[in-house]
Amino acid sequence: MTTLSAQPRFLRSITLDRANKFVSTDFYSDINLYSKLYSKRSSEAVELSVYSVPNLKRIPFEKATKQSFHPTSTGTSYGPSWSTHWFKLKITVPKDWAGEHVELIWDSSSEAMIWSTDGIPRQGLTGDRGNDRRVEYTLLKKAKGGEVIDLWVEMACNGMFGTGKNSLINPPEDNRTFYLSQVELAIPNHAAWKLFYDMQVITGMANELPNETARGQEALYALNQVIDTYDRDDLEASLKKCLQISHEFLSKKAAPGAHRVTAVGNCHIDTAWLWPYAETRRKTARSWSTQLRLMEDYPEYIFVCSQAQQLEWLAHDYPKLFQEIKEASKKGQFQVIGSTWVEMDCNLPSGEALCRQFLYGQRYYEKNFGARCKIFWLPDTFGYSAQLPQIVKQAGAQYFFTQKLSWNNINKFPNTTFTWVGLDGTKILTHMAPCETYTAQADVGDLVRSIRNNRDLAFSNQSLLPYGNGDGGGGPQRAMLERLRRMKDVKAKDLQEWKGELYFELHRGTYTSQAATKRYNRKLEFLLRDVEIVTTLCMNLGRDYAYPKADLDLLWKDLLLNQFHDVLPGSAIELANIDARAIYKNIETKAKRILEESLRHLYQSKSSGDGSGDSFIAFNSLGWDRSEIIEIPAQTGDNLQQYSADKNTGYVRGMEQRCSYSFIDSFEPPRLNANDFATSQGHELILDNDFIIAKFNQQGHLISLYDKHETRELIPNGQPGNQLKLYEDVPLYWEAWDVEMYHLNTGKPAGSGKARIGEVGPLRATIIVEHRLTDHSTASQTIVLTAASPRLEFHMEADWHENRKLLKVEFTWDIISDFATYDSQFGVIQRPTTYNTSQDYAKFEVCGHKFADLSEHGYGVALLNDCKFGYSCHGNVMRLSLLRSPKAPDLNCDMGHHEFAFAVLPHKGTFHESNVVRQSYQFNVPIVVQSIAKNLLKEHKPISYFEIEGAKNVVLDTIKRAEDSDHIIIRLHEAFGGRAQFKLKSFLNVQSVVRCNILEDDGEPIEFVKSERASGWIVLHAFEILTLKLKVK
Ligand SMILES: [Zn+2]
Repeated sequence: MTTLSAQPRFLRSITLDRANKFVSTDFYSDINLYSKLYSKRSSEAVELSVYSVPNLKRIPFEKATKQSFHPTSTGTSYGPSWSTHWFKLKITVPKDWAGEHVELIWDSSSEAMIWSTDGIPRQGLTGDRGNDRRVEYTLLKKAKGGEVIDLWVEMACNGMFGTGKNSLINPPEDNRTFYLSQVELAIPNHAAWKLFYDMQVITGMANELPNETARGQEALYALNQVIDTYDRDDLEASLKKCLQISHEFLSKKAAPGAHRVTAVGNCHIDTAWLWPYAETRRKTARSWSTQLRLMEDYPEYIFVCSQAQQLEWLAHDYPKLFQEIKEASKKGQFQVIGSTWVEMDCNLPSGEALCRQFLYGQRYYEKNFGARCKIFWLPDTFGYSAQLPQIVKQAGAQYFFTQKLSWNNINKFPNTTFTWVGLDGTKILTHMAPCETYTAQADVGDLVRSIRNNRDLAFSNQSLLPYGNGDGGGGPQRAMLERLRRMKDVKAKDLQEWKGELYFELHRGTYTSQAATKRYNRKLEFLLRDVEIVTTLCMNLGRDYAYPKADLDLLWKDLLLNQFHDVLPGSAIELANIDARAIYKNIETKAKRILEESLRHLYQSKSSGDGSGDSFIAFNSLGWDRSEIIEIPAQTGDNLQQYSADKNTGYVRGMEQRCSYSFIDSFEPPRLNANDFATSQGHELILDNDFIIAKFNQQGHLISLYDKHETRELIPNGQPGNQLKLYEDVPLYWEAWDVEMYHLNTGKPAGSGKARIGEVGPLRATIIVEHRLTDHSTASQTIVLTAASPRLEFHMEADWHENRKLLKVEFTWDIISDFATYDSQFGVIQRPTTYNTSQDYAKFEVCGHKFADLSEHGYGVALLNDCKFGYSCHGNVMRLSLLRSPKAPDLNCDMGHHEFAFAVLPHKGTFHESNVVRQSYQFNVPIVVQSIAKNLLKEHKPISYFEIEGAKNVVLDTIKRAEDSDHIIIRLHEAFGGRAQFKLKSFLNVQSVVRCNILEDDGEPIEFVKSERASGWIVLHAFEILTLKLKVK
């Protein structure tokens, strides 16, 4: 008689579910494999005492360990959020544990760090349940039994992702407590751990490989077999059999020629985000000491680390740990990469600031780790400037790595391994990790995605897998390294190219959130520019002058720090934003002081004692002549053509030479136009100068803008400009980060305005508009037209108290153009004004720096700004985003007082023929007015220190002292996208000139004719950045 087999069918879904339960921490965790990971445990072995640091202070080890500690035990809770508690651990290893591997298990439901008694951080710990849980610390690889060991643990009352209420990005909760749930010694069961890791990989394969493949089916079969074989009543023998099954399955090799995935450990530590900078300093020690421990056990393990600023903090706070890291770096296991000072935002910083990120980063790596970085590593930044390929190459790096565009919410980016072609044509090999994350878990899914999402397999059969927990730090887990060991088995042709910016189709709100941060950044970038120019001149012209190199380095590094990709974009918590503003305030105060002192040094023969003067000089740091109306403090006895209403300020017309100064007495106040030029006619308020006539209605709307020279009206009938509009601003999830496309449907006029005439001329005329935006918010506009130019300025103050509303200003022009031109780093970008394709409409809100321009044949108009970045130009409508009001992660984002300005600049010709670039600089770089003692003024005539002869499209941006010598560095760029041929002229006694790169390495010499004080002809191609090093006597 035949008997049927007892074997039941095995079904995929049920088997997978069964495998998950077999290793689960939540289900059957008293009997499953998870429950057998430790063979012995002892909580009595650890004696605990604690010292709680008052006032949320973070104190160093030396200080903490001198405090008085009192006994405590598990089961207690510690708080509030952000507080620190130090624990003294006295560990007595049980006598009968001789010969065993002993671990300390610590779970305080928070972040914590283990310290040795000699004050070296040994390892970070992360409690609670998440993916980033790390609670084990190897105490002894082989115990003697009975030994007594002292350790310290520094417990930080925050999780890996801060202290947000319920959801990740919610504002932090101030009063959280963290529960010390587990402190014990334990002996791991190595066989159980091995099987645990095997099961993770096999389950991953069963999950991720297609069911119809043999390998997928075999994985499923192996899972079932292992769990059938597992016997908790005969554990050791059954584990042996289980491991035979799993090894047999895992030892089958991949086919030759399979895709090659290179896995590197990394640990993305946001320099500030859901925690302040001070916590980041500790996160680096926790995360990196942990990696050193893993390297001890896994010699094949390579970890990459990317932000120079974090290493500098670590060297300062944890010098012994820093030495250990340097040792590991010599062995090649701990590799520094990245090239920049921090992982910065790449939309908002100026071109010069991007250069400085590399200058400070590369110099740091070279000095401390012996070499510059070849890789520009920036996995988490919200879009990538088209000038980056050129800047990266000029800063000594060759490759670019990212992945962020995988978050695009409209179009899939078409490439994985490709050549990125920058604005000027510079090419750089770029890789966007196809696993689409920088926090990969190194599981089967990550490997499968590395192939499935790889869009360039035809060109390159390789990809990078950056794995390790991140954002809040942490880095790779032991489990990830174990999984990789099990998955070990797995040539470039002409690559596809992508030209231009890597526009990120998400996080478009980061051009506007945290208005104060953005304003400081813009203003201080230009302030440091002026400071460097004047101090460099002092160094060359003044006597007994020491260039304040150390001070400037500190100011620059702080500015660069705040350009981190969650700070400047405005996506950090309030604590971090308060820190950032304090840093900015300090930069501003110090930079202004240096500027004032150095200007006086440059122009006064000796100190006037109290520092005040009885007259003024005006300094123009820009490389071209400018004519502007300057404000000076009114003084008794002066006889100026116009004063402000309160008589505190007088107006004079300054005719400024390029990169030079004027003495205020030499101004010939021209009687330009005897008539006042602000008037009202009926219901209209009119500003009228030699260039334009601007008419406003009673609400302050611009109802007519007429160009007198071109006899041309710019406002289409019935579509007035200067419309303030409010939009509903409710994105899908990432509040501070995103504005979504649908907000454009919700624009409504923002309340009512009431206009009146302020100043009437003859040098400066104004219209004042008081706006009641809503029941909660008000704004005022001072609309300014001066006698000097057609630039119509709107200076605004706002008192802003909204909830998820977005304020924009809108202008509609009588111009037809399918493209708008936006200012960017050292160049401009054209983007469509249409919504034809998905690539077009994905750019419904874009980043522009000092201006956006809309031009047709023969004529155009630009909308300039002094601290805003979010533009949306559609058809002939130009909008500038002014203020947002997201509630997460900073509940108080942008609430309160604001100041900002924008301006309308009509111009003859297209953008390329216009003076928009220069005007946008002038709007952002005011002429510096400095009081000076007239009798002490030095005897030198106003003369231009530097000028560009022969090419209007070249901008002289930077003048600074060389990093390592008293040479002068100047940086110029071609600004419009065409060829330039020019001579550099200088009043200074220039001896020689060489080309150099951003890192200031010497290159080819350039001819300089001393008798003419001019260089030979220099040619720049479109958007080229040129750095020159000048030797001056
Ligand atoms: Zn990040």
